Amino acid sequence: MKVFKIGLDDTDTSFGYCTTYIATLLIEEVIKNGFEILDFPYLIRLNPYIPYKTRGNASVSFEIKANHDFIEKIISKFEEMSKELKDERQDKPNPVIAIYEGEVDKSLNYFYHKSLVKEIKVEEAIDLAKKLNIKYYALKSERGLIGALAAIGADLKEYTYELLSYRNPSEKSKLRELSYEKVKAMNEIFKDYTFQNLDEEKKRILITPHGKDPVIVGIRGKDPDKLVEAYRFLNIDAERWIIFKTNQGTDVHLKVASDMKCFDKYSVIYERCKIIKEPKITKGGHVIIEASINNKRSKLLVYRESGEMNKVARLLKEGDEIIIGGGIKDVEEDILIINSERIEILSLKATYIKKRPPCPRCGVRMKSNGIGKGLKCEKCNVKIPFEFNLAIKQERPIKEGQVFIPPPRARRHLTKPIEKENLGNPKQFSLKYFFSKYLLLHQKSIVNFS
Ligand SMILES: [Zn+2]
Repeated sequence: MKVFKIGLDDTDTSFGYCTTYIATLLIEEVIKNGFEILDFPYLIRLNPYIPYKTRGNASVSFEIKANHDFIEKIISKFEEMSKELKDERQDKPNPVIAIYEGEVDKSLNYFYHKSLVKEIKVEEAIDLAKKLNIKYYALKSERGLIGALAAIGADLKEYTYELLSYRNPSEKSKLRELSYEKVKAMNEIFKDYTFQNLDEEKKRILITPHGKDPVIVGIRGKDPDKLVEAYRFLNIDAERWIIFKTNQGTDVHLKVASDMKCFDKYSVIYERCKIIKEPKITKGGHVIIEASINNKRSKLLVYRESGEMNKVARLLKEGDEIIIGGGIKDVEEDILIINSERIEILSLKATYIKKRPPCPRCGVRMKSNGIGKGLKCEKCNVKIPFEFNLAIKQERPIKEGQVFIPPPRARRHLTKPIEKENLGNPKQFSLKYFFSKYLLLHQKSIVNFS
């Protein structure tokens, strides 16, 4: 028996979560054939600033103990399923499966880190696969190899979980019947254990995808047991469900970006930044701030959709220092154009306004007594023979140390929900997190659910 790590990606925009569904079916094959699954499968999100067409949407990996014969079986099963899942009305999926044998090499960890914050060319992934002797099968384009290798190399030092439940792909017309009230009630009970369930401001459910993929709901949190409870509370008629370990909600892309310091187009950045001009507000309500990052001229874009963060951006002044998290949308004439996703206030430049002093007797603000004639209190007639002003420090509505991110509906998958710092401790892996109707019907003997 050997240890294998299997990575999958389909690079498809309209299917999104489909890769997770295929992974779920493959994992069921592993269990059905009596082989061992060693950890939760991983659901990996990569650099969110790569334009959609070239991005792997959700790549997946899982680790098993098996033999080479079984790996061959997994590969043909994958091919078979990928073809079945093809939907003629949509972009064709370009699925890729990659198989790594043994302990994950450091160069794969590095590849994962890089793919969190930079744009990676498919040739680089192909070279790495060759160098490490990684077997892979691409049904069409090899682009998915980037996501597949990154998922294999993912070292999840910090992680969350997502429970995904599925309908059968042949039941695409089946509605995701879930009311806002029901999700709100679930959120009330499980708010200390889950995140991104809904957006209360816009009364929007965030756990149901809108695409035609087989996912019914995805519930995110830190405690797998609580995810199962929350899921059961929703009482959904699903075909199967599974829990993934993920890098979602961890800000890992920002942490890696602050180490890698890359300023190319589509790179993630997390840098100290000095405001050099008063913010401009566009007709659409977006904010544009001229700033300096590492002595590079930059323009920070803070979109109207980012709610409170947009309001805060309007309050920044020349000389203020912040830490900006975001991605480089473009580089125009050496100016970095940055999409902002996180603003931390580092230091606020004190600003003063000039005012006449208060009357030393009654406290009422004094007025000029005429040019060259000093100051006079109009109430009690006290006079000062010369004119002067006091510099009064202006109160700012924002404070140093404050952190702002967009509301739940406008966040990136990787963005850490700052309002949920304490979500509890991650639990250890157990087979019970692979509960599905299939396993219940056919594998009662090997999977014992309490
Ligand atoms: Zn007075």
